[in-house]
Amino acid sequence: MTTMPTPTDTDLLRSYNPSTGEEVGSVPITPVAQVDAIIAKAQAALPAWQALTPQQRADMLKPAGEALEARAEELGKLLSLEQGKPLTEGIGEVSGCAARMSEEADEVAKAIAPDILEDEGVKSTIYYDGYGVCAAITPWNFPILMPHWTIVPALVAGNTVICKPSEQTPLIADEYVKVLNQFLPEGVLQIIHGEDDQGKALVAGDVNLIAFTGSKNAGQHIMQSAAKGLKRLILELGSKDPLIVLEGADLDAAAAFAARNSLRNCGQVCVSTERIYVQDSIKPQFMDKLMEQVNEFKVGDCCDETSTIGPMVMREQKEHVVGQIKDALDKGATLVSGNEPMDGNYVSPTVLDNLTHDMDIMTTETFGPVVCVAGVKTAEEAVELANDTEYGLGAVVFGEDSKAREVGRQLTAGMVGVNRSMGGASGSPWVGARQSGYSYHSGPMGHRQFCQVRVVSTNEA
Ligand code: NAD
Repeated sequence: MTTMPTPTDTDLLRSYNPSTGEEVGSVPITPVAQVDAIIAKAQAALPAWQALTPQQRADMLKPAGEALEARAEELGKLLSLEQGKPLTEGIGEVSGCAARMSEEADEVAKAIAPDILEDEGVKSTIYYDGYGVCAAITPWNFPILMPHWTIVPALVAGNTVICKPSEQTPLIADEYVKVLNQFLPEGVLQIIHGEDDQGKALVAGDVNLIAFTGSKNAGQHIMQSAAKGLKRLILELGSKDPLIVLEGADLDAAAAFAARNSLRNCGQVCVSTERIYVQDSIKPQFMDKLMEQVNEFKVGDCCDETSTIGPMVMREQKEHVVGQIKDALDKGATLVSGNEPMDGNYVSPTVLDNLTHDMDIMTTETFGPVVCVAGVKTAEEAVELANDTEYGLGAVVFGEDSKAREVGRQLTAGMVGVNRSMGGASGSPWVGARQSGYSYHSGPMGHRQFCQVRVVSTNEA
């Protein structure tokens, strides 16, 4: 009988609690040399998986929602321990995925039902078929939601999936995949662990679709590598979302949104408010209300019930944020609050004013707990500055309703909120414009991005 060798230290990917630096757990690293064999297994599982109807595939996934919900507290705690967000948010993220599993699986099945088009004498059926093997490469900021958002539509659409979660949060992704695999045939869903080398090997291998959520730089590298085989891509990348606050705005609502959307998840959200342009005439009142809101936030350990935000996920992320704050202050920004030295990976919520676009913090994604404010004279100036970015995921405008709607239509982001957040009604796609995205997902339009469209036309009497 052969026995598996015990993994040595270098074979393990260790996950650390960003609040304490303690090890939370580890998973075996997937040797890069094994990635092709894992892809071959996913290819071999395709015919049987694609022989099922979308609804049969959706029905197979549904019990995973209940299985996740039964473990929501345990898995939510694991998520928080390795990512740092407060426990209620960690548990909420797991519960949210669990609660929506069944509905989402049905939504995908419905979205990819064939469409029929008819002219006189010809009938065309538009089929939405799976591409083949989908590489699902995901980040750490929502470490169960991001794999979930990709894996569920990819599977129901008829793809087999290999997930490569972030090396910062491998444990929760590993548990998620294990839960789903209780209900799926062998080889349909696999996971590989490691750093970007494993991701690169996956992209370079015999995969047919790469659904990537992460940074712009990695997205560009993936696009280059995928070009060789003209592999299909869904890239959900970073951003530098603006918020515009105009005369006539409900300043309580605008300030509450500004503070929460700049600071939640320690600013580590792809649609975080990263820049705020406020009309000068209302800026003093806005700043007072903003500070009332910001002062409500408390940084601390994920397990401390009074914490509303945790630490940055890793030291490099903290160094990036602190470096951007310093650059802004060196170039003449005003420190309104925060920027206090903190131990470990913690960053104190910081409010900066009088920011300009020659400061890195106004042009490069921050992904940290910083509220960045600049005064503008007019709505036109606000639009010009808001659109002065290579990114375009979300954007929000608060103001008198008709003016705010007019300004909203001039913003170049993929998702715009007018007197509300950028999140759309059910069925809206999650879509980035410019360098924030390439293809998109969610909602019926997004679910179809996981499919090869085929048109079969027949003569009809
Ligand atoms: P990242 O790009 O560093 O890593 C994401 C994943 O890609 C990880 O699993 C990593 O190992 C892998 N990877 C890195 N380089 C790779 C390469 N060249 N080839 C293949 N795989 C590679 O991103 P991150 O730091 O984990 O996440 C933060 C970023 O994600 C932010 O920019 C944020 O805006 C973005 N994000 C975007 C959305 C969206 O919907 N647009 C959602 C969440 C996060």
